Amino acid sequence: MNECIFCRIVAGQIPATRVYEDAHVLAFMDIGQVNPGHVLVAVKAHAENLYALDDEQAAAAARGCVRVARAIRAAFAPQGLSVYQANGKPAGQTVFHYHVHLLPRHDGDGMELTWPVKNPPREKLEQYAAKIRAALG
Ligand code: AMP
Ligand code: ZN
Repeated sequence: MNECIFCRIVAGQIPATRVYEDAHVLAFMDIGQVNPGHVLVAVKAHAENLYALDDEQAAAAARGCVRVARAIRAAFAPQGLSVYQANGKPAGQTVFHYHVHLLPRHDGDGMELTWPVKNPPREKLEQYAAKIRAALG
């Protein structure tokens, strides 16, 4: 059995609220306590970090991020968007499977994530994901 939590999400062995999927990329809502409501864009293949991506995966990751970011903008019209990924434990990485975090931002948020509400509960995340999926067409 694969121990990587994101590989298991990609394989459908762990449920996730999916917002976007193509041949190379899967995007889903982060349900962790630290980052609830981040949208995570993961390369489907198990690449530990950005150094391990081949050119096709790198291009697909960027394309997936841009598509999902545009859909977040269309659905929520945030004033800003943070896009980041961490490499290595000292940089805060906790899951060692390449993924990018997307977070909508509004003036006055500081570093907090608000979407329409701060720290959205699970049901809200489902609603936000549905709006993003709708914006992706
Ligand atoms: P990082 O490695 O710092 O980029 O963060 C990994 C993220 O994956 C964290 O924000 C976790 O909350 C998130 N995460 C871990 N397990 C799951 C899961 N089963 N479903 C959704 N998000 C998850
Ligand atoms: Zn993996």
